[in-house]
Amino acid sequence: MSRKFVFARLAVMASLALPGITFAEDRLSVAIEQSLDDAKAGRPYVTVTVTNVSDAPAWFNRVHSPFDLVEGHAAGNWFRFEGGRGAGPVFIGRQQLIRAFYPEDYERLDPGASRSTSLDLSPDYRFPNDGTYLVSTGVVSFDHVPTDEGDISGRQWLKTDLMELHVSTAYVGSFTPLADSVIPCTGEQEKGTGQAYVKALNMTSTRERLNKLSYYYDPVDPDQPDKPPRKHMRRDAKYVYWLGEWDDDAPQPPDDGHEDTDNAKVDATVHATLLRLRSDLKIVCDLCPKSHPETRGWADGEGIVHLCPANFRDPVIGGISSQTATLIHEASHIVDGYGPSTVDLPGVYSRETAHALPRPEAVRSAANYEYFIANTPLGLGAENADIE
Ligand SMILES: [Zn+2]
Repeated sequence: MSRKFVFARLAVMASLALPGITFAEDRLSVAIEQSLDDAKAGRPYVTVTVTNVSDAPAWFNRVHSPFDLVEGHAAGNWFRFEGGRGAGPVFIGRQQLIRAFYPEDYERLDPGASRSTSLDLSPDYRFPNDGTYLVSTGVVSFDHVPTDEGDISGRQWLKTDLMELHVSTAYVGSFTPLADSVIPCTGEQEKGTGQAYVKALNMTSTRERLNKLSYYYDPVDPDQPDKPPRKHMRRDAKYVYWLGEWDDDAPQPPDDGHEDTDNAKVDATVHATLLRLRSDLKIVCDLCPKSHPETRGWADGEGIVHLCPANFRDPVIGGISSQTATLIHEASHIVDGYGPSTVDLPGVYSRETAHALPRPEAVRSAANYEYFIANTPLGLGAENADIE
């Protein structure tokens, strides 16, 4: 058991025993643990525990969390590894795109009640080396069962502390592989997907061009002609709406030793999404029998996009969700050499929840890129007007 976890657990117990102590305003407490035996053996098993530390009932989204397993696999990439790019494992599981949740997807916890889930991370994460990884996870809690996708009141995103996860790559989990439920697409499905694909390609290409057109340099200072001019990005209202604000005046490259604004990361992510669409994304039709009924699809660890029956209920383009937007979303996820890949964040599945994300999370969230790209302005291809 890691020291960090012990601390987290003590903090939870203290908050239960001493209700007078302020423990933020969190209604739930979330902890992650690797048992001592698992840590010694290098088995990446984790137990996640959610406890209601408030004096009122609370709910958490069970489907968008490590609590909902599909044949022993997590239904999404719910674990965050720290330590810099390339240092953590590669996620090779599914990130299911679920566009709506039902009241029964929210699990109620009465005051003092807890729920735990245990899972093996080895089928879904490829760990490059033996050793210790730093990992956290979280859940989204509510003070009521949300009534629709736009209801984000009383919502809290709760994270565990970072835990040391001890991993031996010699350990291989014994798992039943997910049942193969790929079926041939019907002619109608192929036609719709083909149209959606062309739209997705056009929109992503337009968005990339617009991003490039947003940059400009300060004029060169005649007193310091050798000083590299500062690069700026024009504020596009849609950009700010989906990906958040940045501080243009803060020290940043080319000033030495300063962090980027993340605008370059956004560009690289849009660019990678475009390259994946241009490289002929592999798409299959899937019955998705074990998935949530509102699952539109997922990208698997091999970069193949699986489309589920619910996807074909959506319009090809337009509306709150579309087959086009689903393809953009899935293309943004794929892990390859084209550039950054996006993640699904717990509880982020609608325009409201995506817009509510702080910038550091928004710039890596698949839903935010999906909406940002599908929100391409009128004028450069009016047919792209998808989301308003
Ligand atoms: Zn996704």
